[in-house]
Amino acid sequence: MYMSMQQKEIFLKHLNEMNHYKQALELMTWDRHTSIPNDGLQDRLEIVGFFTEKLHQLQTSDKMVNCFEQFLSSGDPILQQAAQVCKTTYEQKTNIPKEEYKAYAMLCSESEAVWHQAKQEDNFKLFEPFLEKIVSYKQRFAAYVGYESHIYDALLQEHEPGLEVKEIDEVFADLRPMLIDLLQRIKNSEAVVDASLLRVPFAIEKQKSMSLALLERIGYKLNKGRMDTSAHPYTFGINPNDVRISTYYDENDFTRSVFSAMHEGGHGLYEQNFGTDIQHTLLAEASSMGIHESQSLLWESFISKNKLFWESNQDVLKAYAPQEIQKLDLETFYRSLHQVSPSPIRLEADEVSYPLHIMIRYELEKDLISGKIKVSSIPEAWREKSAAYLGVTPSNDTEGVLQDIHWSSGDFGYFPSYALGYIYAAQLYESIDGALNMEQIYRDQNLHLVKEWLKEHIYQYGKRKTPLQLLKDTTGKGLQTDAYKTFLQDKYKGIYHL
Ligand code: ZN
Repeated sequence: MYMSMQQKEIFLKHLNEMNHYKQALELMTWDRHTSIPNDGLQDRLEIVGFFTEKLHQLQTSDKMVNCFEQFLSSGDPILQQAAQVCKTTYEQKTNIPKEEYKAYAMLCSESEAVWHQAKQEDNFKLFEPFLEKIVSYKQRFAAYVGYESHIYDALLQEHEPGLEVKEIDEVFADLRPMLIDLLQRIKNSEAVVDASLLRVPFAIEKQKSMSLALLERIGYKLNKGRMDTSAHPYTFGINPNDVRISTYYDENDFTRSVFSAMHEGGHGLYEQNFGTDIQHTLLAEASSMGIHESQSLLWESFISKNKLFWESNQDVLKAYAPQEIQKLDLETFYRSLHQVSPSPIRLEADEVSYPLHIMIRYELEKDLISGKIKVSSIPEAWREKSAAYLGVTPSNDTEGVLQDIHWSSGDFGYFPSYALGYIYAAQLYESIDGALNMEQIYRDQNLHLVKEWLKEHIYQYGKRKTPLQLLKDTTGKGLQTDAYKTFLQDKYKGIYHL
């Protein structure tokens, strides 16, 4: 179909306008997390509400519908995909009746506050009626969205487009016994792996300089970004020329700040390298939550926790780390980064138990949404799964079912992305390893070549490809656990002498 220059200009202008609101909102999010004085918060929230409303109006206007309908089959590949994103957003914003959504949003903000209190007081009963209401809203919303085989698919689409329960069930069922077995063998191992060797006083300023030096080595551009401090590490992608990250510091444990910086740096690299042809089109966003997570985990877990990474970055350690750390030999240093000790708490989890935490949440939230389990049975089911998968039973609900904020704010369908991120990352790392000489790259400090590979195969596309398309085009395969299983088994076999 032929589109006139004028139609094209109108659509581009419309996209640009939405992009401006999004950038302003992201900048305010950065400010809220890193800089705003306490008393400024109230006014700011009002302004955020105002901008969000304006953006919502643009996303759901008749003009918008007119635009995307014209461009859905325009033949212009980028504008056609931008139109598809606008259409999906429009449907997400409008398929739930306005009044119902408003009531739900109010319930969620009340529920978050109740959850905080319930967690503090270890009182699930307090939170239970709120969770019941949220689950029934989510069931209704899923029905509005529609699904083919499983009701949970409707919620999954928002975070992992193209993936369904059937597929996730399959890969998790394949992964679960291997992880449980690996944990057990590590537990039985007599090898000494001691993270406390790294827990020595390390000046925060020096931790920061060390993180910045390493970020530079992985190709994160500081003239297009910056690193701040916030309670939770975060990446704020305002636009590809302004991608900010944040980290947090523990004076007695530099691994927290440095590996958070590597994690957020991985997210940041993705956002700094979206193709110039998709900027301002709404396509300059991650393909999915799981793919975004795969990029942070690739740099954090697969690259910056690799022994060769530290071998080639000895100069950075020498420049900033205290004597106690410098005097550790490379092998001890590397092993200390990988102590495995299962905890009932997800945020304290090691690499091996982390995906099992995700499976507990995924299985329970899926059964909640499909009505297979009642909210009142959740604490007990949580304890059972925790014991069966992790070998630890939370001593109370604060450490169990009440530990995460997600359900209280209505975030269902989001948890699987964390585990999918590992699986995607392993598949990608395997492809990179096949395409490039990784050993040489580590030795020559040439990690920017990895970034270039990712730019060519992943980053530049933004939302133009779905997660499964990206996997197929880069690895020739669909979602598969082999690479991830091999990565974990080989790594921990060496560390724990299994
Ligand atoms: Zn992340």
